[in-house]
Amino acid sequence: MSVEPDVAVKAAPRTPASDYDAIVVGAGLAGLHQLHRLLGMGLRVAAFEASDGVGGVWRHNRYPGARVDSHFPHYQYWFSRELWDEVDWLERFPSQPEIEKYLNYVCDRLDLRRHIQFGTRVESASFDAASGLWSVTTSLGKTVTARFVVLNSGGLSAPRAAPFPGAETFSGVSCHTSDWPREGIDLAGKRVGVIGTAATGIQVIQTIAPIVEHLTVFQRTPNFAVPMKNPAISQAERDEARRNFERLRGVVHQAFGGFAYEATPPMFDETTEVERVQRLEALWEGGTLEIWGGAFADTFANPVASSYVTRFVGEKIRQRINDPKLADRLIPTDHDFGSRRVPLETRYFEAFNRDNVELVDLREDPIRSIDASGVNTATHHIDLDVIIYATGFEAGVGAINRIDITGRDGRRLRDEWEKALRTTVGMQVHGFPNLFMTMAPFAPASALCNLPVCADHQVDWIAAAIGFVVDKGVTSLEPSEEVENAWMAHHVEVSEPTMLGSNKNSWYRHKRKDGSVGELIAYAGGIPQYRATCDAMISSGFEGFLIR
Ligand code: NAP
Repeated sequence: MSVEPDVAVKAAPRTPASDYDAIVVGAGLAGLHQLHRLLGMGLRVAAFEASDGVGGVWRHNRYPGARVDSHFPHYQYWFSRELWDEVDWLERFPSQPEIEKYLNYVCDRLDLRRHIQFGTRVESASFDAASGLWSVTTSLGKTVTARFVVLNSGGLSAPRAAPFPGAETFSGVSCHTSDWPREGIDLAGKRVGVIGTAATGIQVIQTIAPIVEHLTVFQRTPNFAVPMKNPAISQAERDEARRNFERLRGVVHQAFGGFAYEATPPMFDETTEVERVQRLEALWEGGTLEIWGGAFADTFANPVASSYVTRFVGEKIRQRINDPKLADRLIPTDHDFGSRRVPLETRYFEAFNRDNVELVDLREDPIRSIDASGVNTATHHIDLDVIIYATGFEAGVGAINRIDITGRDGRRLRDEWEKALRTTVGMQVHGFPNLFMTMAPFAPASALCNLPVCADHQVDWIAAAIGFVVDKGVTSLEPSEEVENAWMAHHVEVSEPTMLGSNKNSWYRHKRKDGSVGELIAYAGGIPQYRATCDAMISSGFEGFLIR
């Protein structure tokens, strides 16, 4: 039995002599779909995956408490009705093991595994203009050629190295959350330190606080977070989601962030005080991310609306923390609610009411070094058995930049991006013909999206672009400088004036090698505007692109 994509590009392969028509890098959520999509077009495709299994970040981020913040039925592929019918999701917010199992199921269901070369990291990719082919070299020392390369290597997959002197001398167990060992880490009765208090750190802290002997939380920037309501999913809810599949898909494809929130939120000024409170209370009780973008239509753009929601959320959090001084440290005062990624949480703030949990505010008492027995801050030493680094990722570019990519005229992508980070709709870069990417900067998929929706859209666009090259009998497709300039100008125009643009302290902003703050990678124009641009590129026959 086959699972057919709903939108098929049936292209006859006419690739010149090469090992493959296309190489897909990564076998995570986007990579699996990309592989399926390109195979469905009749192309010869190989996928290279560095690890020994599928799942990408959902394979590696197996830290305690890992689960997704997208509520059922959103976090699954939207391209296949059959997959929707076959998979019975268990929890409203699926956990890491459930998602990893799902991705393995999809891999086998679509018969993809035999096309994936595991344990094979792509180290370099180089374009040869004469042949129009990419040469891709892997960690196994093998070089293969292909006409198209698609980087589905993940936007939040390359961990950021924590810059603490002496970290390598620690004699206990230490681990980044994205590299959690499959056999787990025994935390019971241990003195544990967690560095980082964003989406990942919050999940770890709330989960391990009742298990460990003592937990030291190292917080640099406090984060707003919203309580998650996570009941088991009933059969009736599954049936209803399946009945509504087509309608829901239509909604998520045109919703700002890929969620089927039913009501269009009102403008802040159009609501009375009573209505505002009722609205925020209802969203708070709902237990999803809807309060983030869905409180008011203009929360992102109207500082008054944004401050109002910020005060509401801050007060809600304050009510849950016993010690007012601790509350002052845990509730952000330096940024508005929603100007950084909002995590969902489960009794996170209550964890700090426990006797065995201690907060170290790194803004007052920074980490100076790590030694064999623990962490040295500016004022004291903390003995630890385990250090958990929840310190985040080189967002958007990290996994791509780890590959040495050379495009037309000897341009190296990482050098170009160090000078100025640029993409065309987050999927191509001028100077790099037939190179495609997902989850890269300047698209909804880089930050502000329920990822399976945006990943499905990007996979489709890339398939259409590759189908165009093959069907037209041309050699390559690449955005011209003008097309890229136009996209970047549009991105800056719609994204910078929002509250996301005003917050310079967030992974939504690129961090350059020298530590300086760079471009806002989160595209804040929303999915409808983004899709319209991408669709127009296809329907115009990629007008303005360099077609050779
Ligand atoms: P993150 O948002 O980048 O947060 C990293 C944390 O580590 C921050 O608290 C940061 O402090 C801290 N940190 C980094 N370097 C540090 C240093 N040198 N010293 C002290 N503290 C340091 O990373 P993340 O929490 O892993 O989340 C990344 C993204 O992954 C999320 O926003 C989300 O998109 C995704 N994610 C999703 C889920 C989910 O769906 N539930 C769960 C986990 C992750 P500063 O804020 O001061 O930099």
